[in-house]
Amino acid sequence: MYLSIKTRQSNFKKIVYSSSMNSQDITEIKQLLSTKKKIVIVPHKNPDGDAIGSTLGLYHYLIKTNHQVQVITPNDYPSFLKWIPGENSILKYDSQTSVCTPIINDADIIFTLDFNAFHRTGNMETVLEESNGIKIMIDHHQSPENYAKYMFSDVNMSSTCEMIYHFITMLGNANLIDADIATCLYVGIMTDTGSFKFLCTTSTTHRVIANLIEKGADNTKIHVNIYDTNSYEKLQLLGCALSNLNVIPELRTAYISLSQDELNRYNYKKGDTEGIVNYGLSIDNIVLAAIFIEDRQEGIIKISLRSEGHFSVNEMSRKHFNGGGHTNAAGGRSELSLKDTIENFISILPSYNKALNDE
Ligand code: 5GP
Ligand code: MN
Repeated sequence: MYLSIKTRQSNFKKIVYSSSMNSQDITEIKQLLSTKKKIVIVPHKNPDGDAIGSTLGLYHYLIKTNHQVQVITPNDYPSFLKWIPGENSILKYDSQTSVCTPIINDADIIFTLDFNAFHRTGNMETVLEESNGIKIMIDHHQSPENYAKYMFSDVNMSSTCEMIYHFITMLGNANLIDADIATCLYVGIMTDTGSFKFLCTTSTTHRVIANLIEKGADNTKIHVNIYDTNSYEKLQLLGCALSNLNVIPELRTAYISLSQDELNRYNYKKGDTEGIVNYGLSIDNIVLAAIFIEDRQEGIIKISLRSEGHFSVNEMSRKHFNGGGHTNAAGGRSELSLKDTIENFISILPSYNKALNDE
């Protein structure tokens, strides 16, 4: 179904459609799932709301349709995700490797969700590659690798959670979506769309969300559980980040840095820096925002990039920061020091002068 709606840029029409998988693939997957299977579901390393929401949403659906299912994350995830239905059944590969490895080796099917290349699973890369389980990718990141037998890849989708909704619908089982599945899927759509405001949010996204609320997703409670669980120290860390905010107005860029010492000062915990990069983007006339976070243990600077409009941070991250993602949200890393990473970032900006100022 194609729809055309106007965005705030009057000469730009946004094509909106319900995503669908190749019908032959759907027929084969239906056949595959018609008998009980051993299934593993894996999201990317450092899973976010969409990664956990989509894996658990699919988990509940597959349990309900009588399969043996295990979600395995490469590593831990933030505590604001540790209430999602089914979350306590998740195994973490990095701390439970000996339990996880045989489950992955024995799997009939491995669903890989919310990532586009095996290396995005960190230490799980080899065991996933070597397992004979049939791989099914469901993902919305750009430039997917070709490792899966069945690929449902659509960069126009707001989130992998929205794709899981369409996937269950394509299997003819939308009626099986219950409050638990709806809650999981709502989480990822909400977090990946910045609460339904990013450019990837379509009328279809809102229709899916409306259906999820009707199926029992408690939208107010989900927002509170995800966004209103700040600690005092987390807000102090935000204050520190904002005092480190720099703006380069002529290049319409804002950037923030956080050193390991600053993280330690405010007792940093996983997830505490999530969303801070968006403050840079909220400044009037800013098109590109970055945050540089030192991780002394891994010996890297973790980089998050966000943009407005057509400026592609996916391209920038692929080219300069060993990463990738989407047009308006991407991540990457640098092995230089924090200071040198920022200097490098500033030095490449002039090559994007035209793109930044054309927005
Ligand atoms: P974040 O900045 O929140 O870590 O990531 C923003 C988006 O970029 C997310 O969709 C995330 O999955 C993706 N992303 C983050 N880091 C990488 C990376 O190293 N490679 C790729 N391909 N995508 C990434
Ligand atoms: Mn996602």
